[in-house]
Amino acid sequence: MKVQYKPKRNLLETIFQVEILQGMALTLRKMFSPPVTRQYPDEKPPMYPGFRGQHALVRDPVTNDSKCIGCMRCATVCPSRCIQIRYHDDERGKRFVDQYAIDVLRCVFCGYCVEVCPVGAVTMTEVFEYANYDRAAIHYDKGALLENWDNFIAQTGYDETYVNPFWRPRGIPASLLPASQRMNVPDDWTIKGQFVGTKVRQTQESDGSTHAEESNV
Ligand code: SF4
Ligand code: SF4
Repeated sequence: MKVQYKPKRNLLETIFQVEILQGMALTLRKMFSPPVTRQYPDEKPPMYPGFRGQHALVRDPVTNDSKCIGCMRCATVCPSRCIQIRYHDDERGKRFVDQYAIDVLRCVFCGYCVEVCPVGAVTMTEVFEYANYDRAAIHYDKGALLENWDNFIAQTGYDETYVNPFWRPRGIPASLLPASQRMNVPDDWTIKGQFVGTKVRQTQESDGSTHAEESNV
């Protein structure tokens, strides 16, 4: 390998210390150029598509409770085993979820719980500021998860049809996605236009073909 040495300074450069002057000129220039750093926390960064933030249980506006039907899919698929669900079935076999908890400190944010949920009951919001000194405060029970949802929609203006664009993986036919809501996100999705007010319902015809209907929500 050929080693290149810095050329020697000439007499004038040595007398006037031009590197120091160049350095000072650079400092002076930067003092009057716009800052490149973000003034956090006054200035928050925008969240990008697919950001997996704080968990929440989506509140059903009709029942004012969680949409969760206690199918246990999220707890089964969770690789960290950090979702705990308690439920009971009534005499007619209808299931009621008594407790739903996520120990976020064990969560690896894979998003499988959101992806597998058939009714869009659990979601990962765009909230990223939830660090806490108290471990117990990040062990979310059902009430805390519903509160996370309330705070998220109050901040963003979304409603229960919110779907993180991450949950619509490219290249997978919509019919294979577990919830029809996941077809709501258009291809030209942008951060500003995250929510699109259409719902697509797919029905299976008797001849085996599928039929899609769009409706505004
Ligand atoms: S994001 Fe992954 S690790 Fe975290 S609760 Fe959901 S399934 Fe479990
Ligand atoms: S997958 Fe959805 S409906 Fe089923 S238990 Fe989990 S949150 Fe509830």
